[in-house]
Parts: sequence; C-alpha cells; structure tokens
Amino acid sequence: MKTSYKNSVYNILINATTVQQASDVVLMNFERSANAAAQKSKRAAMGQVYYDKYAKGVENTTMATNTYKKGQKTKLSENFSSLEFDCHGSGCCSETIINPKLVEYVQKIRDHFGKSITITSGYRCPVHNKRIGGATGSRHSKGDAADIVVSGVTPKEVAKYAESIGIKGIGLYETNADGHFTHVDTRDVKSFWYGQNEAKRTTFGGSTPAPDLFPTSTPQPSINNNVLSIGDTGEDVRKLQEQLVKLGYNVGSKGPDGDFGSKTYAAVIDFQRKHNLKDDGIVGPLTENAIKEAIKNMEQNVVTPDVETFKIGEIAQLIPGATYIDGKSIPTWIINSKIYIRSEMQENNSVAFSISKTGPITGVTNISNLMKYIPGENIEIDSNFENYVIKVTADILNIRAGAGTNFKVIGQLRKFDLCTIITEKNNWGKLKNGTGWICLDYVQKIKKNG
Ligand SMILES: [Zn+2]
Ligand SMILES: [Zn+2]
Repeated sequence: MKTSYKNSVYNILINATTVQQASDVVLMNFERSANAAAQKSKRAAMGQVYYDKYAKGVENTTMATNTYKKGQKTKLSENFSSLEFDCHGSGCCSETIINPKLVEYVQKIRDHFGKSITITSGYRCPVHNKRIGGATGSRHSKGDAADIVVSGVTPKEVAKYAESIGIKGIGLYETNADGHFTHVDTRDVKSFWYGQNEAKRTTFGGSTPAPDLFPTSTPQPSINNNVLSIGDTGEDVRKLQEQLVKLGYNVGSKGPDGDFGSKTYAAVIDFQRKHNLKDDGIVGPLTENAIKEAIKNMEQNVVTPDVETFKIGEIAQLIPGATYIDGKSIPTWIINSKIYIRSEMQENNSVAFSISKTGPITGVTNISNLMKYIPGENIEIDSNFENYVIKVTADILNIRAGAGTNFKVIGQLRKFDLCTIITEKNNWGKLKNGTGWICLDYVQKIKKNG
C-alpha cells in the first residue's frame, strides 16, 4: 500500500465522527476504480460486517432518526408525510425510518421551487434494498436519503439548489439510462456524484454565496453579539458585574474584574431564577433588560446612610461602648435594652432616653451612640467589637434585612457613603443607623470607632 494512500485514509479515519461516515468518504475518494458491481458490493458487505460489529452502538445514539408505521400517514412537515418515505418493497418491512433533517431538506426544496415533489425512493428496508441490488449500508436503508423529482424542474436545477443550501450528499441522475431524479442525503462530509456510475463531481453550480441554512460545523461565536456567558472577559463583562453587585449579587472576591467566572455565572443564574427567566447563566437581551429594570426599581429606593435623627417616642438601641453625654460608661444591661427617645436632639447632638416608654429618663447620650431598633431582630452584640467606619466602594450597595443575599433588600448606599459598622457576621456588617446589613466586600474600612 502506498504511504500517501495510507496517510489519506488515516486522516479520514481520525477525522470521521462515525464509521459510516469514514466508510463513505473512503469509498467515494479512493475506491472509485472498483467499477465492477460485484467488487463494490463485496467491499460494502465487508464494511457492513465491521459497521454492525463496532459502530451500531455509536450510530444509534448519534443518528436522529424517527420511526413511523409503514402505510400510515403521519405528517412530518408542511407538505410531507411519512407515507411518502415508505419503503416500496412488499412484505419486507412494517416500519419506516426517517431522519428529520432529510424532511427539513426536502421541505426547503419544496418551498424554494413552490412545486410539488415526488419522492421516488425514500426509506429502503435492508430486505428490499437487497432485493433491488442496492448497496449494503445505503443511506436509503438508514432513512437518511431520498430520491426526488420536483414537478417541472430539471434534476440539475434541483441539485444546484440543494448544493446552495448546504446539502452535502447529492447525486444527479438526468439521462434516460440513469433516470431523472436528484438524490439528496444528510451526510456531513460533501459527496457529489453524477449518474449510475457515480462519477465524482465537485459542484453542481450551486456553490455561489450560499446561506448556510444547515450548518454542519459549530457556528463561530460572533464578537459583538451582545451575549455574555461564562469564560467571556472585558469591559462588557465588568459592566455586567457592576450591575449585579448593585443588585446585591456576589461576583467573586475581586468584585467587578471583567472576568465572567463561576461566581458571576452563579450570580446570573440566581438573578434569572428570581426574575422568572430561563436560568442558563447566559446574559442575552432578556436578562440584560431585566437587570436594567431591577436597577431602575432599586434606585428609587435609595436611602441616605447614617441619618442620625430620631423622633420622640421612637425605639432605639445603644451601640456597644456607648457613653453618657458626660463620658461615663453606660451599663451593659442598658446598652442591651430597647430604649425610647424622650427628647429632641440638642445642639450638642445629644438626646435623652429611657428604658421604658414613659417614666424617668435613663440618661442622655450623643446621637451617634444610637441605632434604630428593628423589631424581631435579635442582634448578638459583641461588647468587644470595635465599631469602625466604612466608605462604600461599589457604585450602589444594597442594604439587606439580614446578613446575606437571601435577605430582602431594604435600601441602598451610594459610592463614597460613610457608615459605621457595629457588628459583623459572615463578612456582612450591621449598620449603626439600624437600616440593615451590607456586604463588606464592597466597602473600604477607613477608621475605628465611628
Ligand atoms: Zn421494505
Ligand atoms: Zn438515492
């Protein structure tokens, strides 16, 4: 065996996705000289043995064929039914195998010419195929091929059009000896031939700028398709991450870094689920619009941070380490109690408070020692915790009712807002002004004891 021949066959074998495909390519490209019908069928039979032995399992999972009851009319597309693809043999089979891709092809041809199509041969069961001397392993026996005649259109024109829409298996028959029809099939590797002796052709003239209606290779992602998904990087991703952060999602410890990684992916899926979108982790137009809408809704709910104003009668809580206005320490039991605001804020920013709604004043303290009391919230105040002031580094930072993204968003802080954190839990900080909790990934600690 010549080395070049061996290498060529080897290349086909390693590139083929199925044994059947490899066999077809080898036969079409290298076995052309085997003109004698007996020789061809002997080779095909040998190939079938190997095919049956090794490839059936693979082929069964990759071949998208459907099975219909022979003689029964099942609609397959606008103009075709399963009946038209039935095997023409009698007493040979009871089922018709049809590849939906083949139906798609013939319907496309039907639509283009706007003329009726006769399928002169569709599915051929192995028994019938053998009876009529068809090649073993014929595409017709797998439901992948059809010989068609388009009313009032020459087989050549049909072949030309079939080529232009990307059909890879086309045989043109247009003489009295060969018959007048066009064979089309669903193979992935191009193979064009002419007549019963299957003379190889490179084109039927239909290769002019063909819209690839039936792409067989993975489409290349376009660069500016405005769809973002895992693995993407760049400015668009960074902007997306900023938006997700604004909405309270975690895009990773580095924050918006322009790298669509697993955290961003999880954040997108979380967002999609909460907004009844398909949770595919891909940011297309629907998700993008929903994110914009969510941000718009949220911005109408921005709160001013550390608004240290209380009205008389409001309930507050002292922050750990709070002192009376004269600097004396306030006992822990008072700090841990609910307290009631009993006076207007004075010029020195102090207010009087008591531990009961009415009755004697318990003390006077600076307003900065107070935080709003949230009913039902059981804050475990760590008296050893050193309060500190943070500056918000994200454009907008959500304030949530609890320490985590699973809690309701109750307000927002803006970039450069300053707030005092009075306790921490799982990298979340509780705001002294009592509005809630913020994620500490998006703040900068600026000083102690706010
Ligand atoms: Zn049959
Ligand atoms: Zn055919």
